[in-house]
Amino acid sequence: MRPVRFNINPKEAQANTSIGMANTPAGYSGEGFFATQLSSVVGLARKNSLWPMPFATSCCGIEFMATMASHYDLARFGAERVGFSPRQCDLLMVMGTIAKKMGPVLKQVYLQMAEPRWVLSVGACASSGGIFDTYSVLQGIDQIIPVDVYVPGCAPRPEAILDGFMKIQELVGKESIRRRNSDHYKNLLASYGIE
Ligand code: SF4
Repeated sequence: MRPVRFNINPKEAQANTSIGMANTPAGYSGEGFFATQLSSVVGLARKNSLWPMPFATSCCGIEFMATMASHYDLARFGAERVGFSPRQCDLLMVMGTIAKKMGPVLKQVYLQMAEPRWVLSVGACASSGGIFDTYSVLQGIDQIIPVDVYVPGCAPRPEAILDGFMKIQELVGKESIRRRNSDHYKNLLASYGIE
Protein backbone atom coordinates (compact mmCIF):
# COMPACT_ATOMS: atom_id res chain seq x y z
CA MET A 1 0.00 0.00 0.00
CA ARG A 2 1.28 3.46 -0.86
CA PRO A 3 2.20 5.28 2.33
CA VAL A 4 0.62 8.65 2.97
CA ARG A 5 3.42 11.19 3.26
CA PHE A 6 3.10 14.74 4.41
CA ASN A 7 5.81 17.32 4.66
CA ILE A 8 8.59 15.19 3.27
CA ASN A 9 11.19 17.90 3.89
CA PRO A 10 10.33 19.11 7.37
CA LYS A 11 12.19 22.12 8.67
CA GLU A 12 12.89 22.64 12.28
CA ALA A 13 11.00 25.63 13.64
CA GLN A 14 13.27 28.49 14.63
CA ALA A 15 11.51 30.39 17.36
CA ASN A 16 13.87 33.37 17.11
CA THR A 17 13.33 33.86 13.35
CA SER A 18 9.81 32.48 12.84
CA ILE A 19 8.03 34.46 15.54
CA GLY A 20 7.96 38.21 15.23
CA MET A 21 6.31 41.18 16.81
CA ALA A 22 3.79 43.28 14.92
CA ASN A 23 5.18 46.58 13.70
CA THR A 24 4.64 49.48 16.05
CA PRO A 25 2.24 52.09 14.63
CA ALA A 26 3.60 55.52 13.80
CA GLY A 27 3.80 57.76 16.85
CA TYR A 28 6.02 59.61 19.27
CA SER A 29 8.23 57.91 21.77
CA GLY A 30 10.43 59.19 24.54
CA GLU A 31 11.83 57.93 27.75
CA GLY A 32 9.11 55.82 29.32
CA PHE A 33 6.29 56.73 26.96
CA PHE A 34 4.90 56.05 23.52
CA ALA A 35 2.00 58.01 22.06
CA THR A 36 0.01 57.24 18.94
CA GLN A 37 -3.48 57.59 17.51
CA LEU A 38 -6.30 55.57 19.05
CA SER A 39 -7.32 54.36 15.59
CA SER A 40 -3.81 52.93 15.00
CA VAL A 41 -3.98 50.89 18.20
CA VAL A 42 -7.52 49.71 17.47
CA GLY A 43 -6.49 48.85 13.89
CA LEU A 44 -3.46 46.91 15.11
CA ALA A 45 -5.58 44.88 17.53
CA ARG A 46 -8.36 44.25 15.03
CA LYS A 47 -6.18 43.21 12.12
CA ASN A 48 -4.36 40.62 14.21
CA SER A 49 -7.46 39.12 15.80
CA LEU A 50 -9.98 38.72 12.98
CA TRP A 51 -12.69 36.14 13.56
CA PRO A 52 -13.62 34.58 10.20
CA MET A 53 -17.07 33.28 9.42
CA PRO A 54 -16.74 30.72 6.59
CA PHE A 55 -19.67 30.68 4.18
CA ALA A 56 -18.58 27.75 2.04
CA THR A 57 -20.90 26.19 -0.48
CA SER A 58 -18.62 24.22 -2.78
CA CYS A 59 -15.07 23.42 -3.92
CA CYS A 60 -13.48 26.70 -2.78
CA GLY A 61 -14.50 25.66 0.72
CA ILE A 62 -12.10 22.73 0.43
CA GLU A 63 -9.28 25.17 -0.28
CA PHE A 64 -10.32 27.05 2.84
CA MET A 65 -10.00 23.82 4.84
CA ALA A 66 -6.43 23.49 3.54
CA THR A 67 -5.82 27.13 4.47
CA MET A 68 -6.93 26.45 8.04
CA ALA A 69 -5.00 23.19 8.36
CA SER A 70 -1.49 22.87 9.76
CA HIS A 71 0.51 23.43 6.57
CA TYR A 72 -0.86 26.88 5.69
CA ASP A 73 -2.24 27.58 9.15
CA LEU A 74 -4.37 30.72 9.12
CA ALA A 75 -3.93 30.78 12.89
CA ARG A 76 -0.51 32.35 12.29
CA PHE A 77 -2.39 35.53 11.40
CA GLY A 78 -4.39 35.58 14.61
CA ALA A 79 -7.48 34.17 12.90
CA GLU A 80 -7.69 30.69 14.33
CA ARG A 81 -11.02 31.39 15.96
CA VAL A 82 -13.39 30.47 13.13
CA GLY A 83 -16.93 31.17 14.19
CA PHE A 84 -20.17 29.67 12.99
CA SER A 85 -22.39 32.33 14.44
CA PRO A 86 -22.31 35.56 12.42
CA ARG A 87 -22.90 37.52 15.63
CA GLN A 88 -19.44 36.58 16.86
CA CYS A 89 -17.50 37.15 13.64
CA ASP A 90 -16.13 40.17 11.82
CA LEU A 91 -14.84 38.67 8.56
CA LEU A 92 -17.29 36.98 6.22
CA MET A 93 -15.41 34.64 3.86
CA VAL A 94 -17.65 33.62 0.98
CA MET A 95 -16.31 30.56 -0.81
CA GLY A 96 -18.14 28.77 -3.56
CA THR A 97 -20.95 29.02 -6.03
CA ILE A 98 -23.82 31.09 -4.66
CA ALA A 99 -27.13 30.11 -6.22
CA LYS A 100 -29.70 32.89 -6.45
CA LYS A 101 -31.82 31.00 -3.94
CA MET A 102 -28.91 31.20 -1.51
CA GLY A 103 -28.56 34.97 -1.97
CA PRO A 104 -31.09 35.99 0.72
CA VAL A 105 -29.46 33.57 3.18
CA LEU A 106 -26.03 35.11 2.53
CA LYS A 107 -27.45 38.58 2.97
CA GLN A 108 -29.10 37.59 6.23
CA VAL A 109 -25.82 36.20 7.55
CA TYR A 110 -24.14 39.50 6.60
CA LEU A 111 -26.85 41.50 8.34
CA GLN A 112 -26.45 39.45 11.51
CA MET A 113 -22.79 40.43 11.78
CA ALA A 114 -22.05 43.42 13.95
CA GLU A 115 -20.03 46.39 12.67
CA PRO A 116 -17.22 46.61 11.88
CA ARG A 117 -17.41 43.74 9.42
CA TRP A 118 -15.44 42.89 6.30
CA VAL A 119 -16.14 40.60 3.37
CA LEU A 120 -13.65 38.45 1.45
CA SER A 121 -14.95 36.95 -1.78
CA VAL A 122 -12.95 33.79 -2.46
CA GLY A 123 -12.77 32.36 -5.97
CA ALA A 124 -14.32 33.02 -9.35
CA CYS A 125 -17.79 31.76 -8.41
CA ALA A 126 -18.30 34.02 -5.40
CA SER A 127 -16.72 36.96 -7.22
CA SER A 128 -18.42 36.69 -10.61
CA GLY A 129 -20.41 33.48 -10.94
CA GLY A 130 -17.33 31.79 -12.39
CA ILE A 131 -18.02 29.27 -15.12
CA PHE A 132 -21.67 29.11 -14.11
CA ASP A 133 -23.13 31.76 -16.37
CA THR A 134 -26.62 30.39 -15.88
CA TYR A 135 -30.05 31.57 -14.82
CA SER A 136 -29.73 30.06 -11.35
CA VAL A 137 -26.33 31.33 -10.18
CA LEU A 138 -25.64 34.74 -8.70
CA GLN A 139 -23.10 36.50 -10.93
CA GLY A 140 -21.06 37.85 -8.04
CA ILE A 141 -21.93 38.35 -4.38
CA ASP A 142 -21.34 42.10 -4.75
CA GLN A 143 -24.82 42.18 -6.25
CA ILE A 144 -26.22 41.68 -2.75
CA ILE A 145 -23.54 42.67 -0.21
CA PRO A 146 -20.50 44.97 -0.34
CA VAL A 147 -17.18 43.16 -0.83
CA ASP A 148 -13.81 44.40 0.46
CA VAL A 149 -11.37 42.05 -1.27
CA TYR A 150 -11.70 39.56 -4.14
CA VAL A 151 -9.51 36.47 -4.46
CA PRO A 152 -9.24 35.30 -8.09
CA GLY A 153 -8.91 31.69 -9.19
CA CYS A 154 -10.86 28.51 -9.73
CA ALA A 155 -10.01 27.17 -7.30
CA PRO A 156 -7.65 29.67 -5.67
CA ARG A 157 -4.74 28.01 -3.93
CA PRO A 158 -4.42 28.48 -0.17
CA GLU A 159 -1.59 30.96 -0.85
CA ALA A 160 -4.06 33.12 -2.78
CA ILE A 161 -6.56 32.95 0.08
CA LEU A 162 -3.81 33.95 2.51
CA ASP A 163 -2.90 36.82 0.20
CA GLY A 164 -6.53 37.99 0.17
CA PHE A 165 -6.64 37.67 3.94
CA MET A 166 -3.52 39.81 4.28
CA LYS A 167 -5.10 42.45 2.03
CA ILE A 168 -8.07 42.47 4.41
CA GLN A 169 -5.65 42.87 7.32
CA GLU A 170 -4.13 45.88 5.56
CA LEU A 171 -7.57 47.46 5.16
CA VAL A 172 -8.52 46.70 8.75
CA GLY A 173 -5.28 48.11 10.11
CA LYS A 174 -5.68 51.39 8.22
CA GLU A 175 -9.40 51.89 8.68
CA SER A 176 -10.43 54.93 10.63
CA ILE A 177 -12.62 54.11 13.61
CA ARG A 178 -15.08 56.70 12.31
CA ARG A 179 -15.44 55.22 8.82
CA ARG A 180 -18.54 53.19 9.71
CA ASN A 181 -20.36 56.37 10.72
CA SER A 182 -19.44 58.25 7.57
CA ASP A 183 -21.99 59.28 4.97
CA HIS A 184 -19.95 57.49 2.34
CA TYR A 185 -20.30 54.17 4.17
CA LYS A 186 -23.98 54.73 4.95
CA ASN A 187 -24.64 55.51 1.28
CA LEU A 188 -22.79 52.34 0.28
CA LEU A 189 -25.01 50.25 2.54
CA ALA A 190 -28.09 52.15 1.39
CA SER A 191 -27.25 51.20 -2.21
CA TYR A 192 -27.69 47.57 -1.08
CA GLY A 193 -30.92 48.37 0.72
CA ILE A 194 -29.22 48.01 4.12
CA GLU A 195 -29.87 50.65 6.78
S1 SF4 B 1 -14.41 29.10 -8.27
FE1 SF4 B 1 -14.00 27.04 -9.09
S2 SF4 B 1 -13.27 25.91 -7.30
FE2 SF4 B 1 -14.31 27.75 -6.51
S3 SF4 B 1 -16.42 27.11 -6.13
FE3 SF4 B 1 -16.31 27.92 -8.21
S4 SF4 B 1 -16.00 26.11 -9.52
FE4 SF4 B 1 -15.46 25.53 -7.42
